[in-house]
Amino acid sequence: SAEYAAALQALDRKHLIHPHQNPTRTERNIFVRGKGSVVWDAADVPFIDGMAGGNWVVAVGHGRAELAEVAAAQAEKLEYFSLWREYSNEPAIRLGARLAELAPAGMTKIHFTSGGSDGTEAALKIARRYHFERGDTERTWIIGRQFGYHGTTLAGGSVSGMDDMHFGAGPTMPHVTKVSPPMVSHPEMFGGQDPTDFLLQELETEILRVGPEKIAAMIGEPVMGGGGVIVPPEDYWPRIRTLLSKYGILLIADEVITGFGRTGDWFASAHYSPDIIVTAKGISSGYAPLGAVLMRDEIGEVMVGNPEKFFFHGLTYSGHPVACALALTNLDIIERENILGQAKKIESWFTEGLEGIRNLPIVHDVRVHGAMVGIELTADPNTGEPMPFDRMVGIIDDLRGKHRVLARDYGPTLVVGPPLVLEQEQAAEISTAITDVLRTKS
Ligand code: PLP
Repeated sequence: SAEYAAALQALDRKHLIHPHQNPTRTERNIFVRGKGSVVWDAADVPFIDGMAGGNWVVAVGHGRAELAEVAAAQAEKLEYFSLWREYSNEPAIRLGARLAELAPAGMTKIHFTSGGSDGTEAALKIARRYHFERGDTERTWIIGRQFGYHGTTLAGGSVSGMDDMHFGAGPTMPHVTKVSPPMVSHPEMFGGQDPTDFLLQELETEILRVGPEKIAAMIGEPVMGGGGVIVPPEDYWPRIRTLLSKYGILLIADEVITGFGRTGDWFASAHYSPDIIVTAKGISSGYAPLGAVLMRDEIGEVMVGNPEKFFFHGLTYSGHPVACALALTNLDIIERENILGQAKKIESWFTEGLEGIRNLPIVHDVRVHGAMVGIELTADPNTGEPMPFDRMVGIIDDLRGKHRVLARDYGPTLVVGPPLVLEQEQAAEISTAITDVLRTKS
């Protein structure tokens, strides 16, 4: 009811400090239930969830009774037992074995986390420790990318390329450097050169400036999500892989968004052979918080192979039994319902559905890759000036207020990343709503 919704709003305002809280905005959408790709708010108004739980999470869709039953059964059987040191639990073991089967060949070592930021933290420590154990004790530097997003914790935020994340929070992690993103919608960035050629030269120059013998790893998302769905040229990652190998630098693929089907594959990085893969979100479709770091066998073996000094890293909830049991069934559902194929269908529906907006003056670029959609907007087509924050918010508000469609703004890019069970009609509704709002704002 309206009173119930108002009471919740008041309590929220009074007590909650939200992630990425904007103090000028105090009215929130409070969601109370969901089914498939639809969520209902506290006043019982339905919305199409164009962001899979607001955060690219809910791959198999909301409200799966099968998953609720799995969680209840595991909680009743054994709700929690730690994975620390000489302890283990059955769902974590079974999930580890399952991930090893799904992972690119030779990546059968799995370390569990609670989510993506702590997955990044673990991956960075694993990369450094691997080099250390091999006698490469100087290899501590990490290469990130401008506009990369790897979480908001100190290390995750430090290797990300978004300065606002550290505003007022003091110094970031040392031994980090950043290179340019493969933002092919801005050819002016590449000085008339082929984007991959330019970016490879920039990367090699930076490697040589820092000193290859000091660099542990480069981290990057196969397709940048938080940067606004930045899809690299096809040869970008394979060529980076080759370059890093030349200098003994590890490649960490941050697949927190792309892993488990969003781009139509289990892992979007499989074809360019990363050394470490960070996952979260889709691994459990958000039915419980969970992440997993996958690594090449040799890395896992070397990293934990020192009997004098253990791998002193881990979280209380690493390998939480209920979360792992949920993830196992979530992976069953992804397989059973051919969710990977579904992501490819979603790509074709949006490619077609958004064709009409390409010529609008405020639309700079439309990018659709699997179930990742980014519509980059400009305030001035002549100068290419990015669409400012307040106008982006106005667009998101109209989609939500007038069309009951949930999307997000990432800088000047309007983003859609729906559940992978989105139906054709729902994709059409989202496309129509976006077309309508962008026409009005053009
Ligand atoms: N890495 C990527 C690519 C992400 O998109 C995110 C979150 O959106 C993270 C890491 C951080 O994950 P978490 O919010 O679970 O800590």
